[in-house]
Order: sequence, then C-alpha cells, then structure tokens
Amino acid sequence: MRRLIAVVAVMRAPSVLAYTVAALAALAMAGAPFGVHRAVHAQVSPSSRVVAVVGATIVNLGGGPGVANATVVIEGERITAVGPAASTTIPPGAEVIRANGRFISPGLMNMHTHYGLVLPGRQGAELANETEAALALRMAANARTSLLTGVTTTRSTGEIKRADFALRRAIERGEAVGPRIHTAGETLNVTGGHGWNPNKQGLDSPDDFRRAVRQRHSEGAEWIKIAISGGIADTHGDIAASQMTKDEVAAVTETAHRLSMKVTAHSGSPGATLEAIDAGLDCVEHGYFLTDAVLTKMAEKGVWLVPTIVVAQPTVMEFFKKIGSPDWYLARVASVGESHFKMLQNAIKHKVKIALGTDQFPYEPNDGTTATVREAQYYVEAGMTPLQALRSATIEAATMLGIQDRVGAIEPGMLADLVITEADPSRDIKALRGIRLVMKGGTVYRNELPR
Ligand SMILES: [Zn+2]
Repeated sequence: MRRLIAVVAVMRAPSVLAYTVAALAALAMAGAPFGVHRAVHAQVSPSSRVVAVVGATIVNLGGGPGVANATVVIEGERITAVGPAASTTIPPGAEVIRANGRFISPGLMNMHTHYGLVLPGRQGAELANETEAALALRMAANARTSLLTGVTTTRSTGEIKRADFALRRAIERGEAVGPRIHTAGETLNVTGGHGWNPNKQGLDSPDDFRRAVRQRHSEGAEWIKIAISGGIADTHGDIAASQMTKDEVAAVTETAHRLSMKVTAHSGSPGATLEAIDAGLDCVEHGYFLTDAVLTKMAEKGVWLVPTIVVAQPTVMEFFKKIGSPDWYLARVASVGESHFKMLQNAIKHKVKIALGTDQFPYEPNDGTTATVREAQYYVEAGMTPLQALRSATIEAATMLGIQDRVGAIEPGMLADLVITEADPSRDIKALRGIRLVMKGGTVYRNELPR
C-alpha cells in the first residue's frame, strides 16, 4: 500500500512546472540536452515490476575493467542479477531499459547536506520568518531536485525544527520524493558556539550534552553532530577556535556510542580535532586548517573526513552572489580556501578515509555542473584518482554510514540505486556531468536515454 502511494505521488508530478528554476538550471548544467522536458517525468515501477537494464558497462569500483554489455535485473527495489548479457537471463515480461554503450555506477551519496540551508545575507533575510510548514516544503523541494541530479542517499548534518525527520518519513512513505536520508538532527553547540541560536539555551556541561544526545536518539537521529570549532558563517570568533571542553566531547561520544550512534564534528581546528579524536570522534566535517599531525592521527584511527571542499573554492562564488552574501562572509570564505585545499591534498596523501559531502544543496549549480559532481572533481584535482573520487561518493560513503550491505554497489541483493552516464567516471570523474538516468530503489526518476 505504501508503494502504491509512492506511485501516485510520483506520477502526478507535473513534468516541468513543479521544478524550481534552480532545479532546471542544475539539470541543464548536469549535462542534460535541451529537451529536458522530455527527460524529467518520472517512470514508476510498482514493487512487483521487473526491470532489466541492458547494454551498459558496470563501472568496477574495485578498479580494472567493468562488466561490459551487462544485464542488470531489478525486481521491486532490489538488484537480483548482474552479469554479461550472454549469461544473464532477462525474466519474461521485464521492462527493458536500453543503455547501450553507457556506464552504470551506484547512485551518488552526499554526506554533508542541509536541505533547510539558510546563510547570512539577502537569502537569509528573506527566510528570517519562515514558518515550519514553509521550511518543510522547501526542504522537500530541495530533496527532490537532489535526487533528480543523481544523489540517491544523503546525510543531514544539522537541520532544525525536526523537519528532517518529517522529510525522511515522507520520503520513506512515498509522500515526498528524495534521496534516502540519514540524519544528525539539530547540531549540538555551546552557548555562543558555531551555529548557536541566540534564542535557545546553549549546551554548557557534559550533562547538557548527554541529555541532548539522548534527545536526538529519541527523535530518530543516526548521527550526532557537534560543533567543536568556529565556522565560516559565524559573525564572530576564530574559525580555528576550540569551543567544547574535553569532558563535553567525551560525554557526547560515550553516550552516542552506547546508543549505536556515530559522532561527527564540524571542525576547522587542529587542537579541537586532536582532542575529539582522543575522545572517540568518528568523523570530521570540513577540516579547514587540519595539520599533518591531525591527518596522520585520523588515518591511524580510521576517523572519516567529509571535506566539503566546494564551499571555499572560487567556483562557489556564483552561489554566494546569487544569495546576496555580505562582504564579511565572502572574506571569511576567502580566508579558508587555500588552507582548506592544501588540507585536502594532505589528507589524500595520508590516506585518510574520505566520504563526499558538499555543505551545499547536492544539486546547487557550480561551474556548469552540480555541487556534488564539482566536489568529486575537486578531489581529483587534489590528488585522488577518478576511481577514488567515485568511491568517496558511493561505497566509501555507504561504509561510513554502515549501510554498505544495501547501497553503494551494483550487485545482487543491493537496493537498485544507480546512475547511468555517457562515459566512465572511474576513468574521468567529469563523466558525472553527463548523468542520463537516475534510479532509486528500482524506480526511475529521470531518464534521458534515447527511447
Ligand atoms: Zn554544514
């Protein structure tokens, strides 16, 4: 029954009118031909339907050549068979999607998103009195466009008013269209710290933090996000300042781990990050100023890095202009850009585990593509191979979330989350600029392949 609701919801969606201008821009920039109207109406597969994608090469995330002229059989929401056309049977009655000469990769995963993102400046002022209902609808639109640009799983690293939980539920029920969502709920911060809301009580002791972790757990969060240093969007304070005490961070990690939750930290600070790693931190966001010593320790302890490099590089400026960012904000962006990129280069050299995240809407137009794809391209510019960058956007992210048995690879038993591109992104990451088909859970949400 739930599935049926999903079908109705998607089929009713007008093909073009429902999309924001940004969405269309992003789709166009993602390499869509001009006939995007034809492309974006959803095709829906009821759970009983069998689909076979034929003729494409499966990108090999382990390196080496992929399966050429492959047949991928999808029954309901899962992949049931993958192999060369010659030896893989297409079940009778299957709907066949011909993707000859193209490449199939797992759906993209973006591990640092805020569907309700509000930043200082004109856009922030316009949203100052946004109601909870308006926030939820705006977030749903952002989730939908993210999926249409090829992002099938995201992790929310700070939302408000529990709208992320409502959105996740709506997507799971088929009432809204969007990626699979893992979330940290609302960020935990000290009084006056990064992301602190002056109208709310800050957290200022280990007990405060323990209570907040348990609160997030009760709301349904899988992650806890703490702010251990300053940030670009703060109106005051040093981005590299260390904001939480050791015993506060330890209270978070200990409580979260007892509840099988993972902890990630917004951090630009080497000192704060070293302390937090000692306290059991699982993941670091941004890492603007991390030194070799910190990166070495992260590699040793298996602490993840989600770089969000795209927020502080020159190609992001079109976005900041669009939202009317004030000069002080642009100056803060500029002050971290160079160090941030060097940090990423060093992290790659030190073999720190990296999962892709943007800190922008996954579909946000950037340099002629989306923020997600541009982020992956920056990883290659900083020293990753295209294969490593593709992995950071797929199987590595799935591993970080602990769901690598369900998503992040094109194999029997996995959820059928995939994208089809004209070229092989494991050889040239820019191939992700040309996504032609997006499937999530066996349902095609976008198809620009010739019929
Ligand atoms: Zn963020």
